Amino acid sequence: MEPPEDTLRRLREAFRAGRTRPAEFRAAQLEGLGRFLRDNKQLLQDALAQDLRKSAFEAELSEISISQGEVKLALRNLRAWMKDEKVPKNLATQLDSAFIRKEPFGLVLIIAPWNYPLNLTLVPLVGALAAGNCVVLKPSEISKHMEKVLAELLPRYLDQSCFAVVLGGPQETGQLLENKFDYIFFTGSPRVGKIVMAAAAKHLTPVTLELGGKNPCYVHDDCNPQTVANRVAWFRYFNAGQTCVAPDYVLCSPEMQERLLPALQDAITRFYGDDPRCSPDFGRIISEKHFQRLQGLLGCGRVAVGGQSDARERYIAPTVLVDVQETELVMQEEIFGPILPIVNVRSLDEAIDFINQREKPLALYAFSNSSQVVKRVLAGTSSGGFCGNDGFMHLSVNSLPFGGVGASGMGRYHGKFSFDTFSHHRACLLRPLGLEKIYALRYPPYSPRNLRLLLTAMDVRSCSCTLL
Ligand code: NAD
Repeated sequence: MEPPEDTLRRLREAFRAGRTRPAEFRAAQLEGLGRFLRDNKQLLQDALAQDLRKSAFEAELSEISISQGEVKLALRNLRAWMKDEKVPKNLATQLDSAFIRKEPFGLVLIIAPWNYPLNLTLVPLVGALAAGNCVVLKPSEISKHMEKVLAELLPRYLDQSCFAVVLGGPQETGQLLENKFDYIFFTGSPRVGKIVMAAAAKHLTPVTLELGGKNPCYVHDDCNPQTVANRVAWFRYFNAGQTCVAPDYVLCSPEMQERLLPALQDAITRFYGDDPRCSPDFGRIISEKHFQRLQGLLGCGRVAVGGQSDARERYIAPTVLVDVQETELVMQEEIFGPILPIVNVRSLDEAIDFINQREKPLALYAFSNSSQVVKRVLAGTSSGGFCGNDGFMHLSVNSLPFGGVGASGMGRYHGKFSFDTFSHHRACLLRPLGLEKIYALRYPPYSPRNLRLLLTAMDVRSCSCTLL
């Protein structure tokens, strides 16, 4: 295997030679990505089943079709996105051409996690390729079946002078990060996000950090508990709870908790049967380490639903915890598994305070029949994304940006936001060499009259001045 330094040198040379810039080249790479997804669908589903026991339904919905959708959107809009963007001008620049040029950064590094190992690798890749960059892709070593498919097959569909897959765990990725990249796109834990950002700082490399955290889910007293339970359970237990935007805990009154518990039990039984271990639709924990961590969390509070586990299969049952203390581990760290604690609050205001006393989450959910209540939660808090009366459906709208705020990350992507993330927005003004007599107003000797004229001419609102 080629040493990473040689790979980076090779890719950088291809970028300098301008290979990735033409729209035709970018489109060919995106088409290659589309073919990769089509030709290898079964292999991809098998890898997801082997790594996470992900069902074909969840694999199609949350990994394959989303990646295909992003490829199609980028291909449809590539030329429009690449176009220079004209901007309003002031009087002083009326005869000039002012525009934003979207330039590729150069050599981009994408580091991906294991929980949606296809989606979270390919969706950023679509943006990086569409924007005309050379790309080094570092899939997660933990989802090892998907890592193998990506390493062995994906390069066959892309131009290998501009694209490479590099493998490795923390140590190898740490070494890779010592190199200079022009942009780093990282998805993973806040702990590793800090390591990535510190490494990027050494080279002043810009970063996008797509991180995690605890996503609150407020349930107001006026809700139909069964409807809420269906929605919360599906989004919490999807992918066995290993979803960065899953509702992490429920905030509700003790009365609502009493109504929600049987409804959650009912939803879990309808979804996964009496013994969810036998359900083909319920996933498994990715690794022994994460299984042990989650088993530790089952000891927090009191188990109201589920609570069973089996180390041989890395199975943790869909679980609901009650009587949980804020100081317990399950309320201190991101759960990232099929466990849902319910925390009691006495009022909407107390719920908003509870949320605001903690780090800004990646996603926030509020359930109520009253749009006023949902809007109060929205207005009174901050988070990467927000969805009223459902789980992470906001992700399915690719005209919305996806990303965190504060401890849940920085930057955004999906759809055109991906293209913009991987493009430097270059401010350009093209002026004529004539008209020197007018431009002479700005030169010394300075006078109050010339200053007045210049200030008027440079005010962007004066561009519609009737003088022109
Ligand atoms: P992780 O941070 O452990 O690993 C992510 C990537 O970083 C992997 O490719 C891994 O090889 C690499 N890595 C690990 N340790 C490293 C080190 N010391 N130096 C350099 N690189 C290192 O995350 P994970 O366990 O794969 O994923 C789970 C986390 O990711 C959760 O916190 C979850 O919320 C978050 N996540 C966020 C999003 C999002 O879109 N915001 C999506 C999925 C997961």
